[in-house]
Amino acid sequence: MADPVIIGTVALDSIETPFGKVKDVLGGSACYASIAASFFSTPGIFSIIGKDFPEKYIKFLNERGIDTKGIIVGDKTFRWQGFYEFDMNQAKTLRTELNSLQTYKVEVPDHYKKAKYLFLANIDPELQLKVIDFIENPELIVIDTMNLWIEHKKDKLLEAIKKSDVLVMNDGEARQLFKTTNLVKAANAALKLNPKAIIIKKGEHGALLFTKDKHFNAPGYPLENIKDPTGCGDCSGGAFTGYLAKTGDLSEANMRKAMIYGSVIASYNAEGFSIERLKEINQEDIEQRYKEFKDIRDF
Ligand code: AMP
Repeated sequence: MADPVIIGTVALDSIETPFGKVKDVLGGSACYASIAASFFSTPGIFSIIGKDFPEKYIKFLNERGIDTKGIIVGDKTFRWQGFYEFDMNQAKTLRTELNSLQTYKVEVPDHYKKAKYLFLANIDPELQLKVIDFIENPELIVIDTMNLWIEHKKDKLLEAIKKSDVLVMNDGEARQLFKTTNLVKAANAALKLNPKAIIIKKGEHGALLFTKDKHFNAPGYPLENIKDPTGCGDCSGGAFTGYLAKTGDLSEANMRKAMIYGSVIASYNAEGFSIERLKEINQEDIEQRYKEFKDIRDF
């Protein structure tokens, strides 16, 4: 059974960083998130691609145990073009081509409807809301977003957040959505909307977890070789949800572990373009870096 199920984009990305340049490579929030989740569980994706989408990428996802029956084929694949300057925390978008995403009507395979874990990766909040309605009895809904939707679809986004259990966003988005420079204030405002946990990602500087009574501060990994941080946010949300689906433990203590696994996968992802590094790593690599994260925090 596909669990977690993940809605997001399946994209062809063109990216330039100070360390190189790639064109039309596999990307998209659902792709990164599902690959990250697949280290812990058997995810399924909802999305739309176009006739131009290389079959080899679907084959690759299937070989990783990712269910792609929820991906439908439209005209042209979503494309994103971005670049990074020396501050690799900040992606600059050059071009977003929504293409078939503009006419996407979510179709849900029957076997997705019983999923217990749902990750609403970055995509139009109207689509996120549709998916919430399709899943019959989810135990956990995790939602992510980005500035584009905060600017253009804020009401729908807030509606989707109100129906979710965990909100994941980066520090800039938290400030933008809750109109405050202070992240504690932003997290408290988010908690008032309904989610029981708020994760605020701070790029290479780690991430914060806020729940009603507790606060956890996950360290950043001191990564020496960053090539391309695209997808790191999606990887951390996907791995977080995948780990919770695997363990079935939604306690705050286990969410801390899930966050660290998210940071581990995201840190590996940044070491290569597209999904290059995610293809290479194995469970041993993941456990080794997880231990390093523990050591970093021990005093
Ligand atoms: P991240 O670096 O985690 O923020 O995610 C990067 C991925 O998000 C890229 O692979 C893009 O294809 C995808 N992406 C870019 N813009 C959007 C958008 N507006 N909606 C959904 N996905 C997007």
